[in-house]
Formats: sequence, structure tokens, C-alpha cells
Amino acid sequence: MITMSVTLKVVKRGFTMIEMTLCVIKPHAMLAGVDREILKIIQDSGLRFYAFRKLTMTKDQAKELYREHLNDHSKDSWTPDLIRCATEGKVLVAVFEGENAVKRCRTLMGGIDDPNTIRGKFGEHEGDSPDWRFHNAIHGSDSVESAIREIKLFFPDL
Ligand code: ADP
Ligand code: MG
Repeated sequence: MITMSVTLKVVKRGFTMIEMTLCVIKPHAMLAGVDREILKIIQDSGLRFYAFRKLTMTKDQAKELYREHLNDHSKDSWTPDLIRCATEGKVLVAVFEGENAVKRCRTLMGGIDDPNTIRGKFGEHEGDSPDWRFHNAIHGSDSVESAIREIKLFFPDL
């Protein structure tokens, strides 16, 4: 049986749930020219490339992408920097699909302190700042619900 919700993103094939997830390769990684390398890591893991676009995020798109952080006022000190870093240049937004795509992609992204992960390999300090959290190379959806919302933000016609 194959079913697809109107808004798709989760396709049922028999008992297998095929998820979609959104990755955003951040501006500093685009400038460093490592976008292909990052995409290759994700593809080589077995996730299938479904769609991609290069674009410059508007402030409104970045605010929607990071909605949960903007709503938390205890984080006022760093959210403007997060939005600035997300909108300061071109990004590559890519949709991948596969079984457990959301979790698998998050595992590949990893943390900036693990050199075997995308963030560990391609995260960078911002200028002289010791805080490289804004320059951690990649955003990845953290749940199927987030993935659906985030994919619609950049691919309204998918
Ligand atoms: P993730 O990107 O792993 O989903 P979050 O959703 O918690 O992490 O945060 C979104 C982005 O905000 C992170 O990718 C990072 O760039 C930035 N960030 C998160 N926490 C902090 C923090 N305490 N200080 C500065 N930047 C942060
Ligand atoms: Mg997040």
C-alpha cells in the first residue's frame, strides 16, 4: 500500500515510514565551498536527495525557521546573531528522504565537538569569537512535524 498525505512528507509503503527532512547549509559553509562535501556525506549515508534550492533567506524566513527560539525571551541575547548569521549569504536548502530520515540526518550532523560529524568537520568560529554555535555549518529538522513546516517554508509547492 502506498499512501501520501496531501502535504506529503511522510509516505507509507507497507509498514515502512519514509520520512522527509530539511537541511539548510548555512552561509559560512557556502562561502567556504563545502556544500557539495556536506551533501555527499548525507547521500553516501543512503538518504535520497529529493529536492534542493540555493537562496538567500529573508529575515522573515529565518525567524520562521527558528520560531521556537524567538518565542523564548530568555534567549534574547543571542537570537539576533542567529538570524543575522542565517541571512548573511546564500544557503543551500535540501530535502532528503528515507526511513527515519530526521533522526539519521541529525546523527550525521552531530555536534561541533565531534570531529566525525558534519558540524565537527565544518563548524567554524565566527571571526575572533570563541562562540561558533552560529557557524555550525548545517541546520537539520528536529522532528517530522518541524520537517513538514520547514519544507513548506522553502518549497511551498512540494
Ligand atoms: P540545533 O541546530 O541543533 O537544532 P537549536 O535548535 O537548539 O539547535 O538551536 C538552533 C541554532 O541556534 C543552533 O544551530 C545554533 O546555531 C544556535 N544556538 C543554539 N543554542 C545557542 C546558544 N546557547 N548560543 C548561541 N547560539 C545558539
Ligand atoms: Mg533546532
